[in-house]
Amino acid sequence: MSAPAARRSRQARVVWGDRVVTVGGDAPVRIQSMTNTDTVDAIETAIQIRELAQAGSEMVRITVNTPEAAAAVPYIREQLDRMGENVPLVGDFHYNGHRLLTEFPDCAQALSKYRINPGNVGKGDKRDKQFGQMIEAAARYDKAVRIGVNWGSLDQELLASLMDENNRRAQPWDPRQVMYEALITSAIDSARLAESMGLSGNQIILSCKVSGVQDLISVYRELSRRCDYALHLGLTEAGMATKGTVASTAALAVLLQEGIGDTIRVSLTPQPGEARTQEVVVAGEILQSLGMRMFVPSVTACPGCGRTTSTTFQELAKRIDDHLRAQMPVWRLRYPGVEAMRVAVMGCIVNGPGESKHADIGISLPGNGEAPAAPVFIDGEKAMTLRGDNIAEEFHAIVDQYVQRRYGAAAA
Ligand code: SF4
Repeated sequence: MSAPAARRSRQARVVWGDRVVTVGGDAPVRIQSMTNTDTVDAIETAIQIRELAQAGSEMVRITVNTPEAAAAVPYIREQLDRMGENVPLVGDFHYNGHRLLTEFPDCAQALSKYRINPGNVGKGDKRDKQFGQMIEAAARYDKAVRIGVNWGSLDQELLASLMDENNRRAQPWDPRQVMYEALITSAIDSARLAESMGLSGNQIILSCKVSGVQDLISVYRELSRRCDYALHLGLTEAGMATKGTVASTAALAVLLQEGIGDTIRVSLTPQPGEARTQEVVVAGEILQSLGMRMFVPSVTACPGCGRTTSTTFQELAKRIDDHLRAQMPVWRLRYPGVEAMRVAVMGCIVNGPGESKHADIGISLPGNGEAPAAPVFIDGEKAMTLRGDNIAEEFHAIVDQYVQRRYGAAAA
């Protein structure tokens, strides 16, 4: 297996209290997420931030769009601090960020990073002035900044000038190529401008988000070639459920495998009733599948087939997966290394014992017509056989005991 290539970017420090989340350089690829609550509702927002952080989000972005939202930010921070949740907050600013960061210094201070969209900081001669006010706040409070360009809100003046330039070419580029160039130029020129205004280049993270997989890959390959700023990756408006998950995975996996990307976000549209934390789960799975980071013990489950027509095996696989994820906020602290544990839940004797032996702990359930017994394998050896109606509960307990015995020792 070829290891991801290394693109060594500068390293930003996103800080809250004693918590420092490094981005870029030798830091692991970080996971970000964003709330979808009304920021003015500080309690609801703090609760969702906590859920996202506990699911594995290392930074959480919140909308800061009105004076009321800006006024709520310090209160949200206070609520999180009281809950012992020191995840850094990122403020998402559009149109009026210069005013909000100037008029609400407590908000500017409570955030750990500002997201600035150069496509909507202002028009004409106001643009640089208003951009400068935001950069000045970042420099004053020692905050990191993400200069986040998005093709849905691209700087129209820049795009028009690049179009004009293109029309003057003997062989004009494809319009899509001009759009790529506008995204990249907007990001890099804005970063250079921020540096000229006094912000350290290390504290600048860039993103150029588009909603097409091939577009994203092309843009980031070129962006990464042209600068050494840390890069935030994400497919914007990825969509819902399977489509959003697959499109994000396809785009991010290609770039991450090439060593491009220092933070990621999976912009899923939650389905009705679906937890916001799903985007964090998917982001973690992308990094874990690529072997870049470990977040939760992995559950290997066979797809099932005609040899196991009962639902017991699917239910057990789901219950174990849910149980492991639910335990992780506590286990992460109490049992170092548990995230690398491998659990197998298999449907019948064909591959069940073999796969279970390769896992740290595995169970092979009886398929159709097999004896009603489920052998459990621990560290490659058959340890016991479960029978009866409580196989799921008993296997849960065996997994918990295994975690305590194996990983509790590491913490002692
Ligand atoms: S392990 Fe058994 S039940 Fe699972 S896919 Fe293979 S043959 Fe089918």
